[in-house]
Amino acid sequence: MTAWDEVKNSGINNFPALVRERMQVPDAIFIRSDDGREFTYEDYWSLSGHIANALATQFVKAGDRVAVQVGKSVEALAIFLACARLGAIFLPLNPAYTTTEVEYFISDAEPSLIICEPSKFETLSKSANAVLTLDARGGGSLVELLQSQPDAFADAMTDWDDAIALLYTSGTTGKSKGALLTHGNLASNALTLIEAWGFSPDDVLIHALPIYHTHGLFTATNTVLLSGGSLLFRRKFEVDDVIALFPQATSLMGVPTFYTRLLGHSGLRRESAKHMRLFISGSAPLLAETHRAFEEKTGHAILERFGMTETNMNTSNPYRGERRAGTVGLPLPGIEVRVSDPASGAPLPAGQIGMIEVRGPNVFKSYWRNPTKTAEEFRPDGFFITGDLGSFDGQGYLTISGRGKDLVITGGFNVYPKEIEMEIDRFPEVLESAVIGVPHADLGEGVTAVVVLKAGHPAFDERGMISELQKRLAKFKVPKRIIAVPELPRNAMGKVQKGLLRATYAELLKSQRFPV
Ligand code: AMP
Repeated sequence: MTAWDEVKNSGINNFPALVRERMQVPDAIFIRSDDGREFTYEDYWSLSGHIANALATQFVKAGDRVAVQVGKSVEALAIFLACARLGAIFLPLNPAYTTTEVEYFISDAEPSLIICEPSKFETLSKSANAVLTLDARGGGSLVELLQSQPDAFADAMTDWDDAIALLYTSGTTGKSKGALLTHGNLASNALTLIEAWGFSPDDVLIHALPIYHTHGLFTATNTVLLSGGSLLFRRKFEVDDVIALFPQATSLMGVPTFYTRLLGHSGLRRESAKHMRLFISGSAPLLAETHRAFEEKTGHAILERFGMTETNMNTSNPYRGERRAGTVGLPLPGIEVRVSDPASGAPLPAGQIGMIEVRGPNVFKSYWRNPTKTAEEFRPDGFFITGDLGSFDGQGYLTISGRGKDLVITGGFNVYPKEIEMEIDRFPEVLESAVIGVPHADLGEGVTAVVVLKAGHPAFDERGMISELQKRLAKFKVPKRIIAVPELPRNAMGKVQKGLLRATYAELLKSQRFPV
């Protein structure tokens, strides 16, 4: 029986009740914030009670959405727990979104309350009935309001299947969709990860991720919250600061960019990382090269895992056992993962690339007010079609080959960008690469590579690199052009924005046959 099965059988019915039940040592520290404040578990629970009462004065009730577009702070994080206690649905928004972008989310989600930074108050007041403010220093009308509120709060009688959060996917094509997650999705995944990654009250996790995205908001926070450990809460990732924290920490969860930045710092050594027990990476592919270089420098094999907004975490390299560079590991306990033929949905054997599909208590309920899209993305037997392509190896480790929409179809042949990127990354002068398909006169799409060169390497020889690749790859897979750029465009979670690259190079091969 999994920890999640045990919880369901124990009569606990929702996420806040589980938090309360797991709070074995109320005066243990839950958060040490970089603004100098400390919050015990009891303080954090009490803060969420004050906020829940404050939100209730604004007539927020069960099922209502509460949109939150503020910088990272302990109060901002506690709004999530307050909403869960009210039975309301937490809707976090990236503070970098413009007013026009935020207006789309507001019109789609129809929140009954918006919490924003004071500078946005005037604009957002035009779009919503109730607006409260919260600034990065813990000030604003929300804070004034909660100070006059009691901390005792009678939690709503929600169930595991009730919605707890509405997270908009960071879609690069079309409008982003709202994924509705339930109390059960979050609780089951946190409990699974605690077991899989060995989290305990002794853990101290460096939390330097944003909290408007599932990685920092749920994966990093709930794993610690439900295991009794503590968070070193940083408003942003600064490499000096994070290395300086290693001696008082045990673990770090990060995006691959964290690890490439750490590798570029002279302070990253075996000695400085000796107190750490676990480095975890996800949200974007970690280069096998980064994995190897990190292990060489620190003795730690980074544990890579794969998840998404809609599903929480699906697979993970083992905590005990071989962590295979370039793979995202094995399906987590209680979660089914299969690779299928994208068109027919028929399961494919190990070694073949197909659509990654997932089923389990971690998978979201539905897209917000979008039954058509929801129906399209699920197979009749309940598997969610992730949109990621990948394959299992003989030992059950999953490798991601890229997003389905990034697949290049050239002259009728499928080209999986990851395979080409791995070949290109083997050139000593290449730091990293992104392979895309762009319109081509004869072939429909032509394979194109965009590369970032390592500092201090001799001039880049496009023709030389292409002829070398011709020796290693089938002709149709060889890039028609290789373009060198100073850096790849990435979003805040470290994902390469291939859509942006496709738009930038849309004209490149339209009439060209050079040089292949
Ligand atoms: P998001 O919903 O923003 O968390 O993005 C989820 C997507 O990030 C997945 O569908 C994958 O395409 C990608 N992703 C997450 N973790 C990994 C990983 N370890 N390796 C490669 N891609 C990943």
